[in-house]
Amino acid sequence: MHGRGIKSTPENFTVWYGYAADAPPAARRAIEILISNNQEFTPEVMADLYERFYGGMKHTERIRVLAQQIDDAMAGVLSTLGNAGEGVRQYGEALGQTARELFADNPLENVRAIIRQVMDETRDMIERAEVLERQLSKTTEEIGELRKQVEDASREAQTDALTGIGNRKGFDTQLKLCMQEAMEQGTDLALLLIDIDHFKNFNDTYGHQFGDLVLKLVAKYMVEGIKGRDLAARYGGEEFAILLPGTSLRAAAVVAEHLRLTIGGKAIVNRETKKNFGTVTISVGLSLYRLGEPPYVFIERADAALYQAKQSGRNRVATEDELAEVISEPPLPIEQDI
Ligand code: GH3
Ligand code: MG
Ligand code: MG
Repeated sequence: MHGRGIKSTPENFTVWYGYAADAPPAARRAIEILISNNQEFTPEVMADLYERFYGGMKHTERIRVLAQQIDDAMAGVLSTLGNAGEGVRQYGEALGQTARELFADNPLENVRAIIRQVMDETRDMIERAEVLERQLSKTTEEIGELRKQVEDASREAQTDALTGIGNRKGFDTQLKLCMQEAMEQGTDLALLLIDIDHFKNFNDTYGHQFGDLVLKLVAKYMVEGIKGRDLAARYGGEEFAILLPGTSLRAAAVVAEHLRLTIGGKAIVNRETKKNFGTVTISVGLSLYRLGEPPYVFIERADAALYQAKQSGRNRVATEDELAEVISEPPLPIEQDI
C-alpha cells in the first residue's frame, strides 16, 4: 500500500487484507485486473473497491455497536441486582439484630422503639425494592428496543436499497439455507439468473434515473411472479436471481417464461406525458441444484445458461439441460404506466 501511495485508512486496509487473503476471490480478481492494466489506486478507485466488496460492513459495524449496547445494558442489570442483593443482606442483618434485642429482657418502651425501628427498616426495604423494579423494567424495555434494532439492521443488511427486494448478501444466505434443505429432504431447488437486455442502451438513451425506475419495476414483476417460499433478489447492477425451492427444472422454466413475457410484454409509458419508452426484455438462465455441489457450481450453470440465452438472441429463457433451445417470441406489447 505504501509503495502505491495508498492511504492507511481502515477501509483501504480491509480491501488489501482481502486481496492478500483472497476473500472474496472476486475482490482479488478485480484488483489483479487493475494491476495488470497499470491502473492507479486513486482514493476514488479504493472507495469503489471497498463499496463493491465490503460495503455491507457498515451494517456489520452497526450490529457490533448494538451488541455492545446490549452488553452494557446487561451489565447494568447485573450491577442493579448485585446492589439489591446487598440491600437484602443488610435488611436481614438488621432484622436478626432486632430479634436478638426483642428476646433480651427489655422494658416496654424499648420494645416499642425496636418495633418502630423494624418498621423503618421495612419501609426502606420496600422503597429499595420499588426502585429496583423500576430500574429493571426500564432496562428490559431498553433491551427489547435494542433487540428490535439488531433485527432491523440485519434485515436492512440483506435488502437492496433501490428495489426493496433481497440483495446479494440476502441471496447468499437464503441459497445456503435452501441447499441445506434440499439435501436434507431430497427436494428440488431451481435457480433463475435474470439479466436485463441492452440495459446500457436504455440508460444511455433515457438516463440513469429512469433506468433505476425500470429496475424497480422489474423487481416488482419478479415479486408478483413468485409465491410462497420463493425468493427474488437483486444479484448485481441489472441482474436478478430467483430461488425456487421444491421446484423442478420444467416448472421453473414455466415461471421464467411467464416472467419474461410479463416484463417484455409491457411498454413503459410515462403516466403524465404519455410518452412511450418502449419495452425492456430479459434473458433468463436456469439451473437445478445437484445435491452436494458447492453453491458457485450451481450458480455457474445458471450463468452459462444465461450466457446461452444472450448468445442466441436475448429475450429468451435457457435451461442448463437444453442450453441451445430457444423459447417463443414475445407477444405485442401492451401499455404499462410507470
Ligand atoms: P446485455 O444484453 O448483454 O446484458 O447488455 P447490457 O447493456 O444490459 O449489459 P452491460 O453489462 O453492458 O451493461 C449493464 C448496464 O446496466 C450498465 C449500467 O448502465 C446498467 N446498470 C447497472 N446497475 C445499474 C443501476 O443501479 N441503475 C441503473 N440505472 N443502471 C444500472
Ligand atoms: Mg449484466
Ligand atoms: Mg444486461
